[in-house]
Amino acid sequence: MTIQREQLEADVLIVGAGPAGLSCALHLANLIKRHNASGAKPELSAENIYVLEKGREIGAHQLSGAIMNPSALAELVPDFAKTAPLDTPVTDSAALIFTQKSSYRIPITPPPFNNAGNYVISLSKLVKWMGGLVESAGVNLFKEFGGAELIYSGDGIAGVITEDKGLDKNGKPKDNFTPGYELRAKVTVLAEGTRGSLTKQLVTKKKLDNINPQSYGIGIKELWEVPPGKIQPGFVAHTLGWPVSSKMYGGGWIYGLQNNRVSLGLVIALEYEDPRFDPHVAFQTWKTHPFVRNLLDGGQLVRYGAKSLPYGGWYAMPRNYVDGGLIVGDSGSFLDSQRLKGVHLAMKSGMLAAETIFEALKKEDYSAKTLQAYKENIDHSYIKTELWKVRNFHQSFRNGMLDGFFHSGLQQITGGRGLIDPMRAHAGHEAYGKIYGRPAPERFKGDGKLTFDRLTDVYHSGTRHDEDQPCHLKVRDLDICATRCVEEYGNPCQYFCPAAVYEMAKEGDTLKLKINAANCVHCKTCDIADPYQIIDWVVPEGGGGPNYEGM
Ligand code: SF4
Repeated sequence: MTIQREQLEADVLIVGAGPAGLSCALHLANLIKRHNASGAKPELSAENIYVLEKGREIGAHQLSGAIMNPSALAELVPDFAKTAPLDTPVTDSAALIFTQKSSYRIPITPPPFNNAGNYVISLSKLVKWMGGLVESAGVNLFKEFGGAELIYSGDGIAGVITEDKGLDKNGKPKDNFTPGYELRAKVTVLAEGTRGSLTKQLVTKKKLDNINPQSYGIGIKELWEVPPGKIQPGFVAHTLGWPVSSKMYGGGWIYGLQNNRVSLGLVIALEYEDPRFDPHVAFQTWKTHPFVRNLLDGGQLVRYGAKSLPYGGWYAMPRNYVDGGLIVGDSGSFLDSQRLKGVHLAMKSGMLAAETIFEALKKEDYSAKTLQAYKENIDHSYIKTELWKVRNFHQSFRNGMLDGFFHSGLQQITGGRGLIDPMRAHAGHEAYGKIYGRPAPERFKGDGKLTFDRLTDVYHSGTRHDEDQPCHLKVRDLDICATRCVEEYGNPCQYFCPAAVYEMAKEGDTLKLKINAANCVHCKTCDIADPYQIIDWVVPEGGGGPNYEGM
């Protein structure tokens, strides 16, 4: 089918309205305003900045713990404290060791767990507030539009094609069919979050990978309302140990919010050996620890969500500039995996991208040669200072927690160098062992009060997709799922997906993969953790996905 597409042209197109994309848009609009007010030429316009957001609302797809270091926000919006919806300042930071029945608070909280000066926030609320500032600055913000394809031009990119709307599940146009737009821009900024689908295409096609492949984790979160007095707003705790095996990398969090709400979750590196390990079950099990059980007793689940995060750090950062294009935020590996903090780095990367684009607009030169100033700006900013100190941190844990503590301890006293620098990493899916005929575990049901099955949790994520649309989870070879994967790995997609999207269903004597795409919470884990790397997550029709309001 040849599709006639409407063409629109912008100066700058930002794909993704998260902290990085919106910081880029707002900072650029502010720079343009000052430039025009000074009478300098050429005159520029914030209206020529377009931002695309695939969610039905700004902030709807934003999920994080979240504790935010306010440094970048203070640069971007100096009087942020007056209006930003920051839930509460951190008042106490604890590091807890969990055994199955007890917990021990480490008497002196190690520096990576110390959050003095930071805020506990709802990322979704913060991003929604930022969206309002961006719109007030004159930027064009389009909700319910995803970037489906990149427009390549020479050695770089020249915009994106947004997703077609109104196709049925066989790809045939329905009555409401609207072709995607061809959005061309002088500079396209990829701010898609972790494992962005366009970023993945660009990094592969243009060979932008760094010396290490990206490493990822999955974070699973619930928001609870608990009886008054159970937790102080601003109390934050990170847990190590049970039920996460010492061969795995992961831990839990508990953050006290205003109005008796608690953010809690478990984050696990997607590089474990057992292909039937189930991060959702691990999280539900973690909640049965006496410390967490007691906290949640008498409370109720408010919301659920899941998201992957990039752990790889400095040595997994892709080249982040090409002709006509930049990569910012989680898409560009701007996350401190030791402190598990990425919001401020995402924002700062967006601001540095804005400064680079501003200079390019004045020079009217959008080549990689000009845009590489972005990388230079990063190298001279606190992004590098912070990430360089932990450049080998995550890789240290590839052989388990004990090895990790040894190496990371040495790194701490050698400015991040440690015994081996650079320490290499492998793609997480390569860690799977074979199942050798081991029977599948029983599916977890939960008690419906403290612990939940995945469908109950998905219900609390507010996820919604039109079911009559092409499946946005493209499995390139279904035969592999029904043959090799059954034998070798027992179909890990049934276990790592936190939203019960993948199911091996009996059809006669054989098993066939069934994909319940409408449940997808857009965490991207399947795209990352599939052992054969044959799953491509692509954007569904705009507006589909979770609704993380208040998360
Ligand atoms: Fe995450 Fe993939 Fe499951 Fe969607 S289908 S929730 S992206 S693992």
